[in-house]
Amino acid sequence: MHDFRYVGSKLYCEHVPVESLARKYGTPLYVYSQRTLTQHFQKLNRALLPLDHLICFAIKANGNLAVLRTLNNLGAGFDIVSEGELRRVIAAGGDPQKCAFAGVGKTEAEIAFALRQGIYAFNVESEPELQRINAVAGRLKKMAPVAVRVNPNVDAHTHAKITTGTYQNKFGIAFEEVEGVYARASKLKHLRLRGLQMHIGSQLTEARPFIEAVRKVAPLVARLSSKYRFEFFSIGGGLGIVYQPALASGSEKWWSSPKAKRILTPEKYAHELLPLLQPLGLRVLIEPGRFITGNAGILVTRVEYIKRTGQKNFVIVDAAMNDLIRPAFYDSHHEIVPLTRRSDRLISSDVVGPICESSDFFCKDRKLPKVSPGDYLALLSAGAYGFVMASNYNARPLAAEVLVQGSAAAVVRERQPTAKLWEGEKVPRWLERQSR
Ligand SMILES: *Cc1c(COP(=O)(O)O)cnc(C)c1O
Repeated sequence: MHDFRYVGSKLYCEHVPVESLARKYGTPLYVYSQRTLTQHFQKLNRALLPLDHLICFAIKANGNLAVLRTLNNLGAGFDIVSEGELRRVIAAGGDPQKCAFAGVGKTEAEIAFALRQGIYAFNVESEPELQRINAVAGRLKKMAPVAVRVNPNVDAHTHAKITTGTYQNKFGIAFEEVEGVYARASKLKHLRLRGLQMHIGSQLTEARPFIEAVRKVAPLVARLSSKYRFEFFSIGGGLGIVYQPALASGSEKWWSSPKAKRILTPEKYAHELLPLLQPLGLRVLIEPGRFITGNAGILVTRVEYIKRTGQKNFVIVDAAMNDLIRPAFYDSHHEIVPLTRRSDRLISSDVVGPICESSDFFCKDRKLPKVSPGDYLALLSAGAYGFVMASNYNARPLAAEVLVQGSAAAVVRERQPTAKLWEGEKVPRWLERQSR
């Protein structure tokens, strides 16, 4: 399922030893496999072939231009949540006409920009937003393509911070209210009611919540579709990935575990949903983020110190929560493996970063191979919600990103120079006068 594996004692990304990249470009370093990206996209695309469909990659998961270009070349559309993301798509050579604009807080400026670019649809999250889009479209003398995001009130059974489809969440319009909203929207002159959208959450590892939501919403879609002549139904993203394969020791593949096989595959997902979707006769949009890029990226870091306290073995590395916040933010598990396997001795370890926060950790009390300062480690499955969530906390420059294809590797984002950290900051005159 991905192209990071050991050849002898060395971890490779496709045909490139990852340690050679760490030495050449420094750490912390994100490394992406183009082949993995491509295969994940194609796997999902193949599974959905019986449907008229468009895969709109949720670029909030990974917005690097090289990643977007890779997916664009495969025919992907994009799910965007800001003007910045739309500009990213355009910068990567993507087509605004394949973009759906999500999010609860679209500003007038963002709506106007997206309308001028001719996006495929606004996925609308409230009635005031519908009115705002109508007004902006009127001013620009355009018709705005819209879909209402329905909140089906279905529990996705995932982490609370990534559940979006229940009435406890800020997202979408309540299932019971949607028909009334369309009726009122149909009276707004500058809207084209193009479809309906939903998205129930992220990192879903079973088909059940998807089925439950589509079953509930499909009859509504059918009714509205015949009334307003819809073109599409977007079923959102959320396909989960394997973060925690039970590693078979000595295995060349991280992925050969029974646990990994139980994950919801695109084939199973399609097998369950196609019978519910095909009768609608609509174009189906799907908005995966994590599924496409999650396992296509790793974060490489160098061991700086080993610190033993009475109770703990701390492995202090040069990456931190500012580079990858998922463990601190979502209690996420990332496999941690050495770039060079030297020792089979496992030691219970806490891998931590240099930031002055107790939540700056990558794992706690986990059995890891013994490592020494100067060794490199990789945090696996870091290709989604990794770099995009990075910050400059503790005045730490943003990491570099590298894309690998076969035996070629290219820097697709330079490491941020330290001097850029205060670019744009200014000391006001009155403070300058007060110096000395
Ligand atoms: C975040 C998000 C996605 C992508 O979620 P994944 O779990 O990464 O697939 C898709 N659609 C919407 C509206 C989102 O907010």
